[in-house]
Amino acid sequence: MYLFNEPNHYNSTAIWKRTNSESTKKQTRMKTILVAEDNDSNYILMTYILRRDYQFKRARNGQEAVDMVEEGGFDLVLMDIKMPVMDGLEATAKIKEAHPELPVIALTANAFESDRQLALKAGCDDFLSKPVSSEKCLALIAKFIGK
Ligand SMILES: [Mg+2]
Repeated sequence: MYLFNEPNHYNSTAIWKRTNSESTKKQTRMKTILVAEDNDSNYILMTYILRRDYQFKRARNGQEAVDMVEEGGFDLVLMDIKMPVMDGLEATAKIKEAHPELPVIALTANAFESDRQLALKAGCDDFLSKPVSSEKCLALIAKFIGK
């Protein structure tokens, strides 16, 4: 799962975490998720889903998401597709260009196959349909980054 041949921020983080967990009995650092979501209610729902297992920060549009990823420190991105300023598809493409190993999960308002295909084409690793189910969401995140 971890790549060691490309020296960049996220791989360094992965190495640090692995080393840390090997040298201490319990890993204390919670993983950090960027939640890119323009809608307040949807964001609040997401905080209830995530808060027991993960740290998280919010981006309110795609441009903010791109900028925050550049600042670093995230293990995974939950990306709403429909957002102002820059939509989730464009933001994902930009993020993946610079950080192909950072998992991005698309949040789509419906389960149309065409939307799914667009999300995957933009570089999203997987997608969740809204309303997001807590169980599905946590299981999918764990598949990519564990707890
Ligand atoms: Mg939206």
